[in-house]
Amino acid sequence: MQLSDEQRWQAVQARDTRQDGKFVFAVITTGIFCRPSCPARHPLRENVRFFPDAGAAQEQGFRPCKRCQPTKHDATPVVERIRLACRKMSESDKPLPLAAVAQAVSLSPYHFHRQFKAVTGLTPAAWQRALRAQRLREGLVAGKTVTQAVLDAGFNSFSPYYRQAPEALGMTGKQFRQKSARQSLYWAVGETPLGRCLVARSELGICAVLLGERDTELAIELHGLFPATQCLPADLAQDPLLYQALERLAELQTKGDAFLAQLPLDIRGTVFQQQVWQQLLRIPYGETRTYQQVAAEIGRPAAVRAVASACAANKLALIIPCHRVVRHDGLLAGYRWGVARKAALLAQERSHKQNTQLEEESVDEPVRR
Ligand SMILES: [Zn+2]
Repeated sequence: MQLSDEQRWQAVQARDTRQDGKFVFAVITTGIFCRPSCPARHPLRENVRFFPDAGAAQEQGFRPCKRCQPTKHDATPVVERIRLACRKMSESDKPLPLAAVAQAVSLSPYHFHRQFKAVTGLTPAAWQRALRAQRLREGLVAGKTVTQAVLDAGFNSFSPYYRQAPEALGMTGKQFRQKSARQSLYWAVGETPLGRCLVARSELGICAVLLGERDTELAIELHGLFPATQCLPADLAQDPLLYQALERLAELQTKGDAFLAQLPLDIRGTVFQQQVWQQLLRIPYGETRTYQQVAAEIGRPAAVRAVASACAANKLALIIPCHRVVRHDGLLAGYRWGVARKAALLAQERSHKQNTQLEEESVDEPVRR
C-alpha cells in the first residue's frame, strides 16, 4: 500500500521503524537523506522531500545521513538491530545509556526500549545488569580478586556492586570466590610404566586419572572433561593425596591394585555410568569380562552398547578397570587411552597374577611336607 506524503511525514515524526526500508526522506537545506526512524532532529516539513528508496534520493544528488545510514542496512529487521544493540552493550566495558544504544542502532529511545523488551524479555538496563553479573561471576571463577572482578565487570563504583552482588551471585563476591575455589580441581602429572599419567582431585577425592605421552595433552584432556570447573596444577609437596596416588599408580604393575581401593574417589557420571563403573570395580585383578557379561551383571542384558560407551567414558583409568572389559570374541575392542596400552596392561596383570600364585604355592610347600 502506497503511503501519501502526509502519512510519510507522520511516520517520520513518530520515528516509526516499521516504515524503514519503505521510503526515505531528504532535506533540501542540508542535502542529506534519512530513513523514517532517524534519531536526528526533525527538519521543517517544507524542506522535506520523499523518495521510494535510497537509490532514488542519491540520483537526485542527496547524500546518506551518517546517523541512520539509510543505504547501509536498508530495511534492517528489528531483531537484527536488537542483536546489534546487544553486541554494542557487551563490547562496552561500562554500562551504556539507553539513548546511546538506541542511537547506535538508529531507533528512537522510546521505540528501542519497547522493541528490546519485546525481543529479549528484558529492558536494556536489566539486560546490562545481567551482563555485568555474568562478567562478575566469570571474573571471580577465573581467580580475579573481588575488587578487580567488580571493576572489570563494568561496575563503576563499589556501591552499586554491593547493592547488586547478592542478587547477581546469590551471595557476596567473597563468598562466591571462596565457594568456587573449593570446587576447583587440582592436578599433577607423574611417570608410570604406561607412560605419563595425570591425576586430578576435587575436595572429595580422586576424580580423574588420564594416560598419555605429553603432559600438555593430558592437561587439555582434563579441561575438556571438566569444562565448567577450574583446573589448577597442584603443588605435590602440599598435596598428600595426589602424591600418594601418583606413587601407587607408578607401582601398579609390580604391586597389584589392591591398595587403590583405599584412595578416596569422586566418581562423576550419569546414574547408568556409575552403575557400570561400580560393576567394573568388582572385576578381580588379572581377569576380564565381556561387555555382554557386564550388561547382564547390572541387570540390563540388552544394554551392551551403552555399557561399551560407559567404559569409554571412564575418567579414572586404572582405578576403574575399564581395560578389563573385552569383546566376546576375545578381541580387545577400544580403549580410551589406546589399545596397545590395554594389551600391555592385561598381559602385565595376567603374568603378575601367575607369579603371585606360584609364590603362594611355594610358600605352602614346606607346610605340606
Ligand atoms: Zn538520518
